[in-house]
Amino acid sequence: MGKAIFWISIFIGVLVITRILARKAAQRDADLKNPTAKTDQTTQQKSSISSPEKMVRCDHCGVHLPYSEATLTENNVWCSAEHARLGVKQRV
Ligand SMILES: [Zn+2]
Repeated sequence: MGKAIFWISIFIGVLVITRILARKAAQRDADLKNPTAKTDQTTQQKSSISSPEKMVRCDHCGVHLPYSEATLTENNVWCSAEHARLGVKQRV
């Protein structure tokens, strides 16, 4: 039984390594065939970093925060799990 688990884990490990190497090789081939594509990709990455992130507003306290840091539920946006739990604040 232990032997079977050992060989299965070896098999899975080899599969994972093969996939990683194949992906890297494919990426390298694509870069070699089309070097401009790589520069386009890097400029795209740069622009995505420098471009401002979409801001959203917490439905409880009204604070604005980056979309990636927001806690999202079906119809609402929250700044934290605590405010998601408290729900929409009733404004008077
Ligand atoms: Zn909040």
